[in-house]
Amino acid sequence: MKLTFLGTAAATACPLVFCRCAACRMAWEKGGKDHRRRSSLLIDDDLLIDLGPDLMSAAFAFGIDVSRIRYWLQTHSHSDHFDAAHLITRISDYATIDTLPLALCASPETMRHMSERLGMEENGATLENPLWQKRLNLSPHPLHHGDTVTLGHRRITAVESNHDPRDGSLLWVIEEGNTAFLYATDTMQFTEKALALFRKRGLQLDAMAIDHTYGPGTKGGGHLCADEVITEINRLKSIGCLKPHCRIFATHISHEGMPLHEELAAFSANNGYEIAFDGLTVTL
Ligand SMILES: [Zn+2]
Ligand SMILES: [Zn+2]
Ligand SMILES: [Zn+2]
Repeated sequence: MKLTFLGTAAATACPLVFCRCAACRMAWEKGGKDHRRRSSLLIDDDLLIDLGPDLMSAAFAFGIDVSRIRYWLQTHSHSDHFDAAHLITRISDYATIDTLPLALCASPETMRHMSERLGMEENGATLENPLWQKRLNLSPHPLHHGDTVTLGHRRITAVESNHDPRDGSLLWVIEEGNTAFLYATDTMQFTEKALALFRKRGLQLDAMAIDHTYGPGTKGGGHLCADEVITEINRLKSIGCLKPHCRIFATHISHEGMPLHEELAAFSANNGYEIAFDGLTVTL
């Protein structure tokens, strides 16, 4: 399983568009790993997590053929994770031809909210009507916490996230043979139901990407800060669901309380995890 981090920023991208704080100024100067697109991730060349607004920018920068994507997991519908304008171009009105069939996994609430946004791009467009599914060449799999589907050679399991319950936000476990990866953004602390599911399934993770919106000592809402990430790693360790070599990557990084990548990477190395950056590839 090959992971490619297409974007590793929170909703704001990093640095922020109008911000003149010290962190953003330093990030502007430094560039490279300190320029972060909105979070999304590609597995091998055909499974996308989050059809976000910076998908094409990442595809251009990292030479990715996004037309090969066959499987799409959506964590939730917030605008930093879902761009309806990209999705609507699958219909023939855009002179798009020869699209590959696309299987979509998301919660029913997320699908409903994405449909509302799709309808703003094209009158009547929705994910919830078979005619539009055909026009989009898309098959939806509405999933709830604990549901598992097999897509191609991978098993996909939906896990609840407490980031936005009204949107039915989900985390995703992707398994292929004995290899398992958890994509855990956006989220706050893992819920008891999530931990119970990991225990019950005997989950053994080879890697995890985890919400790291705020820096060390900087608590915020709806997400995790660096110190909380460390606590969550220890909670997962205590229930035995991390393989000994499990690699943990911080993603969904904002400017708040955040040192530059190099300094943050030194902090994370001292605490048993790594900081992802745009274009990072990892083979499990
Ligand atoms: Zn987000
Ligand atoms: Zn800033
Ligand atoms: Zn969100």
